[in-house]
Amino acid sequence: MKAHDGMYIGGAWRPAVAGDTIPVVNPVDEEVIAHVPAGTAADVDAAVRAARAALPGWAATPPGERAARIGAIRDGLAARQGEIAETVTAELGAPPRFSEAVHAAVPVLVAGSYADLAATYAFEEQVGNSTVYAEPVGVVGAITPWNYPLHQIVAKVAPALAAGCTVVLKPAEDTPLTAQLFAEIVHEAGLPAGVFNLVTGLGPVAGQALAEHDGVDLVSFTGSTAVGKRIGALAGAAVKRVALELGGKSANVILPSADLAKAVHVGVANVMANSGQTCSAWTRMLVHTSQYDEAVELAGAAAAKYGDRIGPVVNDRQRARVRGYIERGVEEGARLVAGGPEAPREQGYFVSPTVFADVTPGMTIAQEEIFGPVVSLIRYEDEADAEAIANGTVYGLAGAVWAGDDAEAVAFARRLHTGQVDINGGSFNPLAPFGGYKESGVGRELGAHGLSEYLQTKSLQF
Ligand code: NAD
Repeated sequence: MKAHDGMYIGGAWRPAVAGDTIPVVNPVDEEVIAHVPAGTAADVDAAVRAARAALPGWAATPPGERAARIGAIRDGLAARQGEIAETVTAELGAPPRFSEAVHAAVPVLVAGSYADLAATYAFEEQVGNSTVYAEPVGVVGAITPWNYPLHQIVAKVAPALAAGCTVVLKPAEDTPLTAQLFAEIVHEAGLPAGVFNLVTGLGPVAGQALAEHDGVDLVSFTGSTAVGKRIGALAGAAVKRVALELGGKSANVILPSADLAKAVHVGVANVMANSGQTCSAWTRMLVHTSQYDEAVELAGAAAAKYGDRIGPVVNDRQRARVRGYIERGVEEGARLVAGGPEAPREQGYFVSPTVFADVTPGMTIAQEEIFGPVVSLIRYEDEADAEAIANGTVYGLAGAVWAGDDAEAVAFARRLHTGQVDINGGSFNPLAPFGGYKESGVGRELGAHGLSEYLQTKSLQF
């Protein structure tokens, strides 16, 4: 695969300060497909300086002009969708159709939404005898994961640019090629030098240096709760703004009045998508005791149909982790209905689509984020029981409620301690705020709420 051997800093590709590289591995066949530079604190420092130098000019650029540049990024993303899908497939292992339909398509929608919002957002408003200005927070350090490599980048960079912030991006080490492609698109969109900068590298080295840098005003991080807590602590100590999108253990609550077959079918598909590597995946399926056996049968059959059509997980560490959770589920007494810990293929980081029945709320597989194609069916007795189970984890990212009509589902959804709930299936809305309650995070991405994360307010009294 094509790879840049430098960092994108100050509007140009520059050699890294040190010579180390990171191999990029195709998870389908375990072949090394490219190498990218392993950035160090010195590269991060150069990128932050470039972003600081570009900040006054970009912050003063009228929102309509910023909107035009974000629109050009959207157009670049749209024009290069085929190449983006191929790159995501090569470094993440996602099946080509999923890469085309989701990984390459969603970022176009999100960038488009911020081109619109930058042009229409009320950056200035009158409140009584005051004028209130929404001003950019400053230099943003964006640290992103590999699971939706381009979406995670665009969901941070587009609102930051719309707000008038400048950005240093440190993408996940497993998926740097998609990030390099994004930097090319930003370059072609004609942004002023230094407004967007890219440093590839390892989390504990380049990521940590970015999170700690004095010249960064806001750290926006998506990834594991463990690293998120460290970044939150660093930001707290420095009184820096921070946005955290962390893990989830979302509940798919099927009320007795729902269309059971549809809810189970869509619920299993939701977990299998992207090989279960979705922070908002509905990994716990909550079914009323009267329908439980039927749901188990439906879910087992649905998962078995996937066979090895789902892609691998991203790397050998994740595969070992997911398999470890499956073994733990068996040890703790859950019943395997489909899949299991055995590798479905010899080559590649594949995990079998797995369904567990007889899962109780306290089991490890019902509490911890697995981040693989594993769904757990949990029985509930009544609505109060379902509510307690659904809310009974440290996480609160997303969820789903199914009922005979939307009103009944909405009434239940309002009782969930979670940032997003899909009603009777739902469908993606790029303007809807996305983010977590509890340990799932701090702040929101997407739409106007996502834009406001990158703004700070100043009021003038008359
Ligand atoms: P991670 O938190 O280690 O990595 C996410 C990003 O943070 C990467 O860019 C990484 O390089 C960087 N990073 C790692 N250590 C850092 C540090 N000390 N300082 C600054 N940056 C650092 O996540 P992972 O290892 O890629 O995945 C592990 C688990 O994270 C998954 O199994 C899953 O539970 C969770 N996860 C959640 C999401 C989400 O969208 N919420 C996405 C991916 C992974």
